[in-house]
Order: sequence, then structure tokens, then C-alpha cells
Amino acid sequence: HSPGGEALRLLFNGSCDADVNNTVAQATFNEKKWIWVEDKKAGYVAGYITKDMGEQVEVHLNDDSIRIVNVNETDKMNPPKFDKVEDMADLTYLNEASVIHNLRLRYLSNLIYTYSGLFLVAVNPYQKFPIYTDEIIRYYKSKRHHEMPPHIYAIADSAYNEMLQERENQSILITGESGAGKTENTKRVIQYIAAIAGDSAGDSSNTKMLGKLESQILQTNPILEAFGNALTIRNNNSSRFGKFIRIEFNSSGQIVGANIERYLFEKSRVTYQTPEERNFHIFYQLLRGASPQLKSELLLDGSLNDYRFTKNSLKDIEGVNDSTEYQTLVDAMNVVGISENEQSDLFRVVSAVLHLGNIEVASSRNDQAQIYETSSSENVCNLLGIPIAEFTKGLLNPQVKAGREWVTQARTKEQVLYSIEALAKSLYERSFFALVDRINKAIYRPKNSSYFIGVLDIAGFEIFKQEEYKLEGIEWKFIDFGLDLQPTIDLIDKANPVGILSCLDEECVMPKATDKTFVEKLHSFWKDKSPKYQVPRFQQGFILQHYAAKVEYKTSGWLDKNKDPLNENITKLLARSSNQYIASLFSDYLGDITDNDKKNRVKRGVFRTVGRHHKEQLHSLMQQLYSTHPHFVRCIIPNEEKCPGKIDVPLVLDQLRCNGVLEGIRICRAGFPNRLSFNEFRRRYEILTSGIIPKGFIDNKVAAEKLLDAFKLDTSQYRIGSSKIFFRAGVLAELEEIRDTK
Ligand code: ATP
Ligand code: MG
Repeated sequence: HSPGGEALRLLFNGSCDADVNNTVAQATFNEKKWIWVEDKKAGYVAGYITKDMGEQVEVHLNDDSIRIVNVNETDKMNPPKFDKVEDMADLTYLNEASVIHNLRLRYLSNLIYTYSGLFLVAVNPYQKFPIYTDEIIRYYKSKRHHEMPPHIYAIADSAYNEMLQERENQSILITGESGAGKTENTKRVIQYIAAIAGDSAGDSSNTKMLGKLESQILQTNPILEAFGNALTIRNNNSSRFGKFIRIEFNSSGQIVGANIERYLFEKSRVTYQTPEERNFHIFYQLLRGASPQLKSELLLDGSLNDYRFTKNSLKDIEGVNDSTEYQTLVDAMNVVGISENEQSDLFRVVSAVLHLGNIEVASSRNDQAQIYETSSSENVCNLLGIPIAEFTKGLLNPQVKAGREWVTQARTKEQVLYSIEALAKSLYERSFFALVDRINKAIYRPKNSSYFIGVLDIAGFEIFKQEEYKLEGIEWKFIDFGLDLQPTIDLIDKANPVGILSCLDEECVMPKATDKTFVEKLHSFWKDKSPKYQVPRFQQGFILQHYAAKVEYKTSGWLDKNKDPLNENITKLLARSSNQYIASLFSDYLGDITDNDKKNRVKRGVFRTVGRHHKEQLHSLMQQLYSTHPHFVRCIIPNEEKCPGKIDVPLVLDQLRCNGVLEGIRICRAGFPNRLSFNEFRRRYEILTSGIIPKGFIDNKVAAEKLLDAFKLDTSQYRIGSSKIFFRAGVLAELEEIRDTK
């Protein structure tokens, strides 16, 4: 290991008498036959065998109890010298118990990163460790991956170097459950790359001296988080959208720009949050942080408790000051170059959404909707630049086409409330998407771009089902995570036999269809026909088997939602708003809608449109990713209480099983995960032999082959490529051990 690596290990781990402890532990270990025993509560407990009875064994457990267990409920334990190994592929006994034991030991020593064959596993520490400093960045710069302790910087550094060496685009795929740390790690990747590959990079790798572009790229984060993140039960700063950030480089490896693509957006949060969660951060930041002058310009004279869309939510996030965050947001927008006018447009939308929520709709005789108190509507119209008379009429008595004629329809209170909420959600979502576009305008400069590193921050879905790695002329098949996803995707998405989305679209154009007929139709297509589909016992709806769990869907209201997404009387008004920004958000509603358009829209429906859109987006993402060299980061949430220093073993095991880490280790061991160049191999291990390699010049490949012969390595343990040797897991570890004793 290089001095850099050792110094860092000391820094991270803080102890150097590990060897002494290890010797003692090893001696104790050797006296007994230690194993892991499956345990419902703890996951696994340690014990040693006191009696071997063939199929069963008697075990003395660590809590001094005795248990008789079946042998197949036990796992072999690795000797203590493997405690806290940096790459779990190196474990002699590779089983669930050993993997979780290792992660746990490391986590309790504040070591949150661990390699696991193909993956970097990152366990959320829920506390700030000093492992992301400029000094640490310098340690990792251009070091060989396995020389250094596992770290997200090592992944970023490999991606960067491999991009330059292999002249190939790279991707870093960061997945995990909500709260597991995807976004934090994504930020660290960007921070690292900005530091080593920016304008001013050269020698400094000093994050305080970044060039303008790099600062802008880093500052996009507080902006996106203000508008797209929220407090949820699982995460105080949960991203309610997925993103793919591409950092673009010129041929000499300098950053020339970046681009952000966003996927899915939880717009329903705008109008409804459970009492333990919050709306998007911006609502709280603006109401708490904006100056009195700005607030009065935005017609915001109330506080959080005065608006329907914020008053029922939680108000505070532990350790966060919304007013300070507001300042951070404004600073970030200034760095990115979002002008004051543009900022006020964005805030205007936020304020309009709040006022939309406060429009009180009453019901008159004949069940017709009425608005008696007009102050909120007036505010909305003022902010959005539209005339109030037409706005009110469009809400209460919209013009709709019946056959060939336009007729005025009377709406019920429920219908009006529904279309107000749909409008609020759509307005906010469109503004969020426009913000992402605006940010890209500031940082995306496709000229001069030769390569990119893409960082994907998205809640888990498996992308690389089967990938062939062609390296050095050696081929082997890697990943098949055995995640049986396609049947579920078909069930949702297929046109024939009719999947859920298509079926919904069909029902929407059927006269007299209801939510009930829709579900019945679904049952008739899929019940007992797909193993992933089930009929719930009590509710009207269906159950789908997803990635990690079964999810029950209640279908009430689906038909309506799919049919009447937005009140077109209002959206057409907005498209002609006196405010340019607002008008631009709805420009797709400009002009008269022809019968044909209308038919198409009904046919597409909002659900379909959204569904279709996501599908196309994901398809394009996959295409991009397939063309890259991927690096995988799996984030793990250690417990559900956001609590530092605590590992909930069953919870973690569940994630390791679902995210392919356990499977990945197995597969990695079946392949050749470690590699060394001929030169390096010779340099490191020539001392293990004497006189095998003749004096004088000899080709490195020939020398390496002679060494392999001398070590009497079984040929199944390695493959010889054109510049490197590839080893099965554990082989190099063994050679290293022999070398250490020399
Ligand atoms: P979501 O899917 O909800 O967006 P996520 O996987 O992006 O979740 P993060 O927001 O990255 O999760 O992490 C949740 C919280 O956990 C962070 O706000 C931070 O407090 C803490 N956290 C995660 N990773 C780290 C880390 N490496 N160091 C310190 N704190 C961390
Ligand atoms: Mg996130």
C-alpha cells in the first residue's frame, strides 16, 4: 500500500494496534469452531460448535445460551484477520452473515465506505465525518483504486482517469432507498471532479478557489433542492425527483460544461402532505426568509399557518433554519446567473400556488360551485397576470364542447376544488421544469465536449441487466442480478395483452365506464395470468409485486384524473398571461384547440402522457448509460430513525439482498475482479522467487509468465490479457500475505 493509503487509513480508523488485537483474537478464534447462526431478531449471532450431530449442531452462543440448530441455518465465520476488510470480495467465506458483520464492524468504526466486488457500498452515517476535505481530495487524486481506503472519491477518481485513458464516457450510478445517501454522494462526486478537473485545478484542488463554471455547477444543487426536495418521514432532505448530471470534458480532461436531466417529479406534494412531512422547502424558505418588501411584492402577507398548502404540514426541520437556507438559495441563484427578475418570476409562482390553495369554494343551491370571497382569486390573478372575471368563469362555468357546439357547464364544488389543485400542481411542476432548463442554459456548453461522466441519482431500478465486459481480449459475462422485473414492467406498460396504463386509457373513452368497471376489466386480463398481479381482499384496486415489495393500489378517482387533467379554459388564459414567464409555462395551450387535438388529448390522457413521457425518458437514459463504462455505488440506510451509530441488521440485509450486492459478490468471485499490469506484477512479486527471472532485459509479459509458473498458481485462478493479468478474488491477497512475511 502506498504511504498515502496508509496515512489515510490511520486518519479514518484512528488505531494502529489493530495487529496486536488481531493476533490475540486469532489465537482465541483457533481454539473453537466458530460459526454464524441465523436469528430472527438479530439477523445473525456468533457462536461455536460444542457438538456435531451431522444434520444438526449444538452451538454455544455469544450470550452463553446453548442452541441446537440445523447446519443449513448456519454460516462459516471468517477468521478475525478479515475483520473490517476493505473489499468483501476478499473474504474467505462469503455469506450473508459475514458481509453484514463486516459492514457493521466498519460502520461502528466510522468507516462508511466498503468495496464489494463491483460495487462501492456506502452506509449513511447520519453524522458529519471529516472525510470530504480538500486534504482528502488530494490524497485520492490519481491514486490506484485499491491502494486507498474505499471512498466515493476513489470512484470519482477512477471514472475520471478511465475516461482519459480509455477515451470512453463514464457513468456513476448511485442507487438506494430514500434516505440512504444518494444525493450526498452525488454531491461528493461533483465536488471531487470540480476540484481536480476544473479551470484552476492544476495544483490546488482547493474547493475554495474553483473557477466560475465549477462554482456554478456546484451551486445548482441548493437551487434544485429548494424547489425539488422536501422533508419526509425517511429523509429530512428527500429528493422528490431523480436526476442525471452529465459533466462534460474537453479532450485534455478539463470541465467544459454540465447538463442536468430530471426524471419523475412528485407534484402531488404541492397540494397535500401528511402531518409528519412538509411541502417543498421553497415554501418555508420564502415565507420565513424573504424580506418584507419582497413579500409585499409577492402579495404574501401571511405566514405558514395561513395557507392551506402549508398549514397542516410539519413546520420545522431539526438543525435547519429556513431563513438561512433562503439566503443560500438566493446566493446560489446569483452565482448561476439567474437574474433578480427571473428569481421574482419563480417566487411569483410559489406565491400563486399558496393563494390558489386558499380560494374558498362554496356550494349554492343546485349543487353549483360559488366563490363568494374573492381576495385569494384576486391575488392569484394579479400574480399570474390574468383577468379575474375570466379566471372565475373558467373555474365555475367553463365552456366545453358538446358535439359541435360550445356550451357553458356548471361545476360542482368538488369539481372546482379538483381543478384548482390540478392547476396548482401543474403550475409548480412546469415552473420546476423550466428552472432545470434555465440552469442548463447557464452551465451547458456542448461545444468542445469530448467526453462526459454521468452521475445518476435515482431511487433504485436495475439498469444493467446483463453486460458483457470486453477487456483485454478476455470476455466474461457479469451481472445478472436475477431481479425479475420484466413481468411487472409488462404488466404496467404493455399494449398487448392490455397492460394497466393502456387499459386505463381505453376505459376513459368508453361511455359509462367507472373506476369499478376499470378494475374489473383489469382483473379479467391479469388475475391468475401474471404472478406479479393480485386482487386485494378489501379494497377496490389491485396489488403489484414491485422490486422489493408488494404495493396495493387503490383505483378510486383514476378515471377522472386520467380524463380531465387541466381545465383548458384556465390554461389558455395562462398561455396569454401578461407575464412572459407565466405565458411561457403554458405555451403548449396557445391557439384554438381543434376537435382533432381534443380527441388526441383525451385519448392520451394525463396518465398516459406522463407514463409515456417517463418511458421515453428512461429509454433515452438507458441508451446513454449503455454507451458508458459504469461504476456502481449502492447506498444503504442503516436504520429508520435517522440515528447515527446504529445498524438495524434485518433492514440492511433486506437492502443488500434487493440491490444486488450479495449477488454481485458471488458473481464477482466467479469472475476475475483483480488486475495488475505485467510490469507491476513483476515489480511487486519478483522478490518472492529467486533466480527465476534471468538477469538482463526481459519482456515484462515473459517475466510475469515465469513468475506465475513459479508460484504454481492453478491456471483457473488467472487469465493473461494483452497488458495485464486478471486474478480471481483472493489470489492477490494471498500473494500479498506471502510478500508481507518476506
Ligand atoms: P432520497 O431518495 O429521499 O432523496 P437520498 O438517498 O438522496 O434520499 P440523502 O438526501 O443523500 O438521501 O441523505 C439523507 C441524509 O442523510 C442527508 O441529508 C444527510 O443528513 C445524511 N447523510 C447521507 N449521507 C451522508 C454522508 N456521507 N455523510 C453525512 N451525512 C450523510
Ligand atoms: Mg436524494
